[in-house]
Amino acid sequence: MNNTELVSKSNFIRNIIDEDLRTNKNDGQVITRFPPEPNGYLHIGHAKSICLNFGIAADYPNGRCNLRFDDTNPAKESPEYVKAICEDVRWLGFQWDGEVKFASDYFDRLYAFAIELIRAGKAYVCSLDSEEMREYRGTLTQAGQDSPYRNRSVEENLALFEQMRSGQFADGEHVLRAKIDMASPNLNMRDPAIYRIKKMTHHQTGDKWCIYPMYDFTHCLSDAIEGITHSLCTLEFEDHRPLYDWVLDNVDAGCHPQQIEFARLNLSHTLTSKRKLKRLIDDKIVNGWDDPRLPTVSGLRRRGYTPAAIRNFCDDIGVTRSDGVVDVAMLTHNIRADLETTAPRAMCVLAPLKVVITNYPEDRVEQLSSPVHPEYPDMGTRTLPFSRELYIENDDFMENPPSKYFRLAPGKEVRLRNAYVIRCDQVIRDDQGQLVELHCTYDDKTLGANPVGRKVKGVVHWVSVDHAVPCEVRLYDQLFTLGNPDVDDYTENLNPDSLVTLTGCQAEPGLSSAQPEQRFQFERLGYFCCDRYDSSVDRLVFNRTVTLRDTWAKMQKKAK
Ligand code: ATP
Ligand code: MG
Repeated sequence: MNNTELVSKSNFIRNIIDEDLRTNKNDGQVITRFPPEPNGYLHIGHAKSICLNFGIAADYPNGRCNLRFDDTNPAKESPEYVKAICEDVRWLGFQWDGEVKFASDYFDRLYAFAIELIRAGKAYVCSLDSEEMREYRGTLTQAGQDSPYRNRSVEENLALFEQMRSGQFADGEHVLRAKIDMASPNLNMRDPAIYRIKKMTHHQTGDKWCIYPMYDFTHCLSDAIEGITHSLCTLEFEDHRPLYDWVLDNVDAGCHPQQIEFARLNLSHTLTSKRKLKRLIDDKIVNGWDDPRLPTVSGLRRRGYTPAAIRNFCDDIGVTRSDGVVDVAMLTHNIRADLETTAPRAMCVLAPLKVVITNYPEDRVEQLSSPVHPEYPDMGTRTLPFSRELYIENDDFMENPPSKYFRLAPGKEVRLRNAYVIRCDQVIRDDQGQLVELHCTYDDKTLGANPVGRKVKGVVHWVSVDHAVPCEVRLYDQLFTLGNPDVDDYTENLNPDSLVTLTGCQAEPGLSSAQPEQRFQFERLGYFCCDRYDSSVDRLVFNRTVTLRDTWAKMQKKAK
């Protein structure tokens, strides 16, 4: 990304880097990495980490950021996720340094590091089963006990580890453990497993391995192999830092990156955990990882979010060490702020009610002109055909309105946006009493001018029946009704109206050429995005990104 595009505000991590640069700690280099496990799609929490890591690389003169897949658990990972993650990072506007990297690229070297530890008497093959292992580990208040296998000789350990590698044992029969301290107050330091047997094909290495290194062993060494200077991760890894450092202190990996933790992003009304999101997908609560109701990067993209809005949001929330929940209104505020200035305006009637202008000639069509954006004339104009038969929004008419109702009602006037003022003269119903259409008259002196001698307050959107293009509109709302849906049985908090699909909507003719992912403001309704998969020339589909009202901005103003 271009350095001038977005220089993020400072934070405690940038302060550390500034200080390191001042003391020339890493020869002036700043190398970060984004290390996803390919076990699901990226979500908005990952976007925070991406913006942080790639943002630092972009803003510092010698900055670089790697994309490295942390792929040590073949059971949960897949190439589909690898592909989707790469696409999402690029879509967000970032480019990793060099080739995409995989922890599995380093399996040979990690194996050699494990042997180095065994040779130094700092790792051993343990043959306790998982239940015994748990018992020996102790608890937060009770020290652990040494494994009876802890004092195996180096030769025995080397031989057993080699047999583990060559497939002579079943899954779980043995593990390789670091020999640290079973009495450590930090449970992560009580002889953690660093290699396990898992007879499973790996998406990158195929059947080459049947033992796989554990995360804590892999991560720090992968960082060192890549010469990472600052290894940024979320707070839950704080307790793992002593292990991160122990491994690097006990093998010769060439350098010792610094792990720095920051708070993960939690967003209200949604879930930010791949595991929990996967459950929503597996249970068919939503339609896949890119369902526009999910806070996944691909879901937000499909919903109509722009990369800039997501980056700005990440910049707004900042990077700190205090956990909290960010109101989702802060995210929607950012997409509104972006689309307000960039989205072309259009009119679309979601639930059409026919209006016949009885004093308008049957064969006449006027090509009215209207700005694409009211504040930016440079964006050009659009043509709105006006004719005798129009559609307005069903909701913009009331037969028995309360006082202060400014939209259309019998005997009342309203302005058709970008066009004339009309008056409702007659309500036409069928035999069953169903509303069929309204008969109205228009005032031909009100195009771009106020009516003489009276005030017309209401403005409604409309399209011409003969010229409108039919479309489908999907109205999306929060998936959960609760601010914090992260409870055991999330199904109790599902919003039954999180997706309302409207067919038979009618849009102004210019929208017939809408391209997938093109965004619009449908006047008076909100921001909408042409669906990137389901929309085509034969079937236009729009997703509502967000409504027009911005509660976040209002709250901010009040707070001031
Ligand atoms: P999840 O719980 O969703 O699976 P994870 O941490 O297991 O998340 P990884 O693929 O391991 O997912 O994450 C890659 C990187 O993104 C890590 O550095 C992790 O710390 C960071 N990350 C993940 N979730 C968040 C979040 N909610 N906020 C900030 N950073 C996050
Ligand atoms: Mg993880």
